[in-house]
Amino acid sequence: MRYSTLAALLLVAAGSPALAQAETERQHAAHEHGAGQLNVALDQQTLLIELSMPAMNLVGFEHAATNESERQRLLSTVEQLNDGLHLFGPSREAQCSLLRVNVESELLGEDEHAERQSHEAGEHSTDHAADNHDEAHADFEVSYEFRCASPSRLESLSLGLFRVFPGTDHLQAQAITPAVQTGTTLSADSPVLKLK
Ligand SMILES: [Zn+2]
Repeated sequence: MRYSTLAALLLVAAGSPALAQAETERQHAAHEHGAGQLNVALDQQTLLIELSMPAMNLVGFEHAATNESERQRLLSTVEQLNDGLHLFGPSREAQCSLLRVNVESELLGEDEHAERQSHEAGEHSTDHAADNHDEAHADFEVSYEFRCASPSRLESLSLGLFRVFPGTDHLQAQAITPAVQTGTTLSADSPVLKLK
């Protein structure tokens, strides 16, 4: 599921002015280095998590990889992003297993494609001066689908993400479960998202 789809779903389900406001602010304040957005939804045994972050938080650069060490950095980042159980730490008692991960980023396109994009961006840079996604920036959009054998025992997510990606200062988190609808800010000092 695309990030925007789940975000819209969360807003509709919540019907909350505060969450709608938060979403508006997220869009206007798009791409703040160190920040990110986390959307969580639990529906029966299916736990969906969507993570949206500037590439800077994860790999430390936002241009197409130009050498072997940057290419390796991207590969290891994707590997780390695939370890959803460690990054998000759902309660053990809930017995969640990771079914699917989808990692998307401008930085992961074919080299030729990325190069062509950056040339186009250069030619038209003045047209995109006000665009948050001009050639100077790149994002990662990652979605996860877990299946939890005992979803009623899913008390929280305890994020290992801030240790794995120390370039991430905070995440604006929204969660919808049968028990709660919540919006909160997570950080290395406050890495637990309560789901009950
Ligand atoms: Zn950036």
